[in-house]
Amino acid sequence: MDFKYSPEDEAFRAELRQWLEANKKFAPPPSSILAEESDDQWDARVAWHKKLNQGGWVAVNWPARYGGRGASVMQRLIFREELSRLSLSEPGIGMGISLLGPTLMHWGTAEQNQRYLPAILKGDEVWCQGYSEPGSGSDLASVQTRALEDGDYFIVNGQKVWTSMAQHADWIFALVRSDPEAPKHKGISYLLINMHSPGITVRPLVQMTGGKGFNEVFFEDVRVPRENIVGEKNNGWQVAITTLMFERGGGAGQGGALQEVMELISLAKRLARGGKTAWDDSAVRQKLAEFASEAVALKYTGYRQLTRQLKGMPPGPEGSMMKLCSTELGLKIALFAMELLGPYSQFEYGSRFAMDKGKWSFRMLAARGPTIYAGTNQIQHNIIGERVLALPKS
Ligand SMILES: Cc1cc2nc3c(=O)[nH]c(=O)nc-3n(C[C@H](O)[C@H](O)[C@H](O)COP(=O)(O)OP(=O)(O)OC[C@H]3O[C@@H](n4cnc5c(N)ncnc54)[C@H](O)[C@@H]3O)c2cc1C
Repeated sequence: MDFKYSPEDEAFRAELRQWLEANKKFAPPPSSILAEESDDQWDARVAWHKKLNQGGWVAVNWPARYGGRGASVMQRLIFREELSRLSLSEPGIGMGISLLGPTLMHWGTAEQNQRYLPAILKGDEVWCQGYSEPGSGSDLASVQTRALEDGDYFIVNGQKVWTSMAQHADWIFALVRSDPEAPKHKGISYLLINMHSPGITVRPLVQMTGGKGFNEVFFEDVRVPRENIVGEKNNGWQVAITTLMFERGGGAGQGGALQEVMELISLAKRLARGGKTAWDDSAVRQKLAEFASEAVALKYTGYRQLTRQLKGMPPGPEGSMMKLCSTELGLKIALFAMELLGPYSQFEYGSRFAMDKGKWSFRMLAARGPTIYAGTNQIQHNIIGERVLALPKS
């Protein structure tokens, strides 16, 4: 890995910094897909998306011909670093920019790209991801939602679950079973379904954070035009895998863990303990140093992942290692914050006794989610065991 930035990269950073300095006042506070979201908060995120789009910063990774910046892998890293430096949230209203857009560029027809990509960029249409079902999570290829052909339409019946942001979404990209007789990976299609179609019901699910970030989505005789299929009929599994690669590869080079450790250090310095602060306790400092070391190790593992991409190599095992270790670290940091806060950890947002507006108790409750989505950590263990260590399959 070459740690030096090229003059083009430095120019990219300088332009971005200048833009962010001038516009950061429009950014909403960083939020989580698990967070409780009022309409005002959602509107603020949409407004930030539109502001970024005006500056040409909403889809830096998209090719210029689709309205992106055609940023290199390194520039994408710089983009994340600069946002993280200012504690700003990445553009994120639904899964259009990060997942559907790149998938369509790979598999979509020219008409589909023309129809859907501009509206995603502008923030005019919000997308959600309809993969998981009550009986299909880790074993995704077992999806049962049916899509049977009827003339120029598919008729969709079934249920999706854990659908993030479905309550705001205009569209869903869904995995559906279009051939119930075929072997399970061969009878799946990838459909674009308008969420405002008759026959769709969205029911919010309340998480332990109190948030209603995700939902159940029910389909009852929903008519979907034939042209809304991405790729070939019954070849949706290949398309689905492409989306998953964007989902799992999206975290390369993230420096978020280090930011969390810094916030925890700041907390320890403010927490009173027997006339001193928690930071004065060497056991506390040792623990924080341990987290910081892990966070730095993650950062460089992310750079290794980037190096592979820069050399045009396919994603390596670092993706699973990053997913596993970064989400475990997030959980450990949240747990240790609870220990540091002691009884104060029980105060939540809105209480005058809550430190940092209750963000630590929220993080504790929210930190489990990332260990589950985009392939649970047990599944990541399997991948590392089987594909990296070549252990026998159980
Ligand atoms: C915050 C959040 C947001 C999400 N957003 C979306 C979304 O927008 N769209 C969407 O489609 N889905 C979404 N999901 C769902 C997510 O993809 C699934 O929860 C995940 O794939 C696991 O599936 P499951 O919940 O059905 O658990 P299961 O697959 O039933 O697994 C249950 C337990 O068994 C373990 N397990 C299963 N199989 C194996 C195995 N082979 N070896 C070892 N252990 C195994 C799992 O690790 C887990 O601990 C979201 C989830 C979360 C937490």
